[in-house]
Amino acid sequence: MPQSTQIAITGAAGQIGYQLAFRIASGQLLGYGQPLTLRLIEIAPAMKALEGVAMELADCAFESLHEVIISDRLEEGFRGAEYVFLVGAKPRGPGMERSDLLAENARIFSRQGAVLNEQADERAKVLVVGNPANTNALIAASNAPDMDPRNFSAMTRLDHNRACAQLAARTGHHVSSVERMIIWGNHSATQYPDLSQALVDGEPAMALVDAGWARGEFIATVQQRGASVIEARGTSSAASAASAAIDHMRDWAHGTRDGDWVSMAVPSDGSYGAPDGVYFSYPVRCADGAWEIVQGLDPDEFSRDRIRMTGEELLEERNAANELAL
Ligand code: NDP
Repeated sequence: MPQSTQIAITGAAGQIGYQLAFRIASGQLLGYGQPLTLRLIEIAPAMKALEGVAMELADCAFESLHEVIISDRLEEGFRGAEYVFLVGAKPRGPGMERSDLLAENARIFSRQGAVLNEQADERAKVLVVGNPANTNALIAASNAPDMDPRNFSAMTRLDHNRACAQLAARTGHHVSSVERMIIWGNHSATQYPDLSQALVDGEPAMALVDAGWARGEFIATVQQRGASVIEARGTSSAASAASAAIDHMRDWAHGTRDGDWVSMAVPSDGSYGAPDGVYFSYPVRCADGAWEIVQGLDPDEFSRDRIRMTGEELLEERNAANELAL
């Protein structure tokens, strides 16, 4: 039997974690039948709920699932991990400012980075989902000096998938015919969903939709989609977030489709005028387990303006995190 791949998830009893664990265990990340061990991590008050998750995982009798380890100790949870989903994060409480949220999470993610550095496989791929995801990824990577910062990334794939779905619906095509969508910048209200490079069935999307929709309603719908789901369901978009997390990690590990790209928040190299030293969502192509930022695009003035604005927000977050000196 091939060796079991070690997959760690924090916040594993939370809404997204509850979806993610089962989808991974069923083979949707590594492929059906590929043996895996789930290392599920929670904070102490959520361990009872996590026991229930482990019971249900056993009851699924998944062929791929070799072992389930549950723990409230990061050292144990991250040991030997090859794929790491950092999902658990402190949610914004009543009266809490964004800066308080950032500070609380900076503490959590700096410790997680340090323990990953000690315990995880040194080539582990780490995906940050917990918000503020881009800056949490920066903090975790900064605290893992022996790991390559390129092995950390933050999730904008849900925004990317939402944008593809909106464009498909608008043009009356199936979502699988949409390529080359881009989410630029921060996973926040300043993110810039950009369809100016997108193709639908090989045709430029901008020839199929009017510019007013592309720059107005389309952007607003993607940015506000999470709130719309909460309004409809009464609870947040956990299933689609888990699905996007698997898409992100699978494409990173196994490669993007020929001719297409995906959006991932990765360490900025200044491409397209984004600030250096932040985790910025770019169009990326993946092959052989590595990503490259797609070069040679020529964003118009509207796009450059949006890229600048979301970059400024990330710089503010980075500066606020630096002041905490973690
Ligand atoms: P969720 O599983 O719904 O969300 C987890 C994180 O993902 C949040 O930061 C959330 O951000 C973020 N997120 C990103 N995209 C989305 C999306 N599309 N929809 C919803 N969330 C998104 O949170 P729960 O509260 O259900 O679960 C969190 C778990 O983490 C709990 O079980 C808790 O015990 C654990 N936890 C762990 C901590 C730690 O590791 N030290 C600290 C605190 C909690 P946002 O809040 O902005 O929606």
